[in-house]
Amino acid sequence: MRLILLGPPGVGKGTQASAIVKKYNVPHISTGDIFRANIKDGTELGKKAKEYMDKGLLVPDELVVSIVKDRLTKEDCVHGFLLDGFPRTINQAEALDKELTKMGIKLDKVVNIDADKEILIERAVGRRICKTCGSSYHVKFNPPKVENLCDIDNGELFQRDDDTHETVATRIEVYLNQTQPLIDYYQEKGIILNIDGTKPIDEVFETIVKALGDN
Ligand SMILES: [Zn+2]
Repeated sequence: MRLILLGPPGVGKGTQASAIVKKYNVPHISTGDIFRANIKDGTELGKKAKEYMDKGLLVPDELVVSIVKDRLTKEDCVHGFLLDGFPRTINQAEALDKELTKMGIKLDKVVNIDADKEILIERAVGRRICKTCGSSYHVKFNPPKVENLCDIDNGELFQRDDDTHETVATRIEVYLNQTQPLIDYYQEKGIILNIDGTKPIDEVFETIVKALGDN
């Protein structure tokens, strides 16, 4: 199963990614992770990437694609993979297609977990975290028994700085602007699966599995 996973911040993409890789026994390939691994191991690609990152520059598409391609040739990818955080641009998507063609394989599906922007904002803005143990609550969907206090240890709950309405809205907006062209690109190829991410976690996962069918 060769998959790409797309989804806006706060839609629960990480949780679904974990469940998918477990079910299909494929590696979860996040570009952030492979970059960090390459830099840590001091590979040529890692050194090049670090030069850009140290300068606060975006790593060029060409280099990102090389690093991903290198990762896809590893043995654990023989039965497929789940790409997360890549591709981000049409350019990268086209480069990926070319590399996969050279390898004699192709993508099966692009799983696009979607949710209404207002719902994502409400989820993020209502999130509260325990100062003591880090447990997560939601003022509306998962409130503590006593307002503002952790059920487990009575710790005080706080809201993360980047969970304000404005920051969350911007975060989602940036994501949507960046990703819509990609969604269109894969839509045209007929391999996109639009999944409603507002449903409970288990239900979202079941929908994904059903939609993937016997691939
Ligand atoms: Zn706590």
